[in-house]
Amino acid sequence: MKLRILGSSGSVSGPDNPASGYLVTVDNAPAVIMDLGPGTLGELQQIQDPVDAHVVFSHLHADHCLDFPSLLVWRRFHPHHPADGRSLCFGPADTPNHLGRLSSDTPGEVDDFSDSFAFAAWEHGRTEIVDRVNITPYSVVHPIEAFGLRIVEHTSNKVLAYSGDSAYTENLVECARDADVFLCEATWGDGTTPRPPQMHMSGGEAGRIARLAGAKKLLLTHIPPWGDPEGALRAAREEFDGPVKVAECGQVYEF
Ligand SMILES: [Zn+2]
Ligand SMILES: [Zn+2]
Repeated sequence: MKLRILGSSGSVSGPDNPASGYLVTVDNAPAVIMDLGPGTLGELQQIQDPVDAHVVFSHLHADHCLDFPSLLVWRRFHPHHPADGRSLCFGPADTPNHLGRLSSDTPGEVDDFSDSFAFAAWEHGRTEIVDRVNITPYSVVHPIEAFGLRIVEHTSNKVLAYSGDSAYTENLVECARDADVFLCEATWGDGTTPRPPQMHMSGGEAGRIARLAGAKKLLLTHIPPWGDPEGALRAAREEFDGPVKVAECGQVYEF
């Protein structure tokens, strides 16, 4: 399994880093795009044909899904290589309505994208087969319906866990149990600045989950352009003995 960081900037795009988006590939099977924040579609074009991928969403905040209408344009109207069938799409129950409105020509109307994607809603704990991987969503703590995702490759049983956006929750410990790579948000850096409750995590909280879950490697992500990656790293290392890095646009992790 290969994880590529399309963008890791938290809450908004950065000057040289799109907002949240990750590409998961297994051999030559269609890829799985995990979140599709502003700028990630451009990054994806440097790597592969954007059509050749399924799309899954942790949640529908703008910084995780705004490039989806552009992907629909590409799939429907590319003059040489439009999509020749439907790919899979998974996300919160409101995805067709929410992203259909985003893609509609007329305010208040919904663009029905079932021509391009077969959609099914996540249900906490119910595993979905997405080509060469199984994905199990875990409910997490955020102002809107949001999920952490546990991705297991069929043949190797390698595990990638992704927190999405969440405050600290035991569900993420289950989501990341024995994961080979745990990609976890660390919006609040070293955790010392005042912050609203029930929103995001610090590097220390990410490290604590990685330790309790027995994860093998921790990647910190979703740090905003005004954030503190060094502080997040320090705090995570105080909690977690294993390798910790900050996810950066363009990085590839193979495991
Ligand atoms: Zn976010
Ligand atoms: Zn969010």
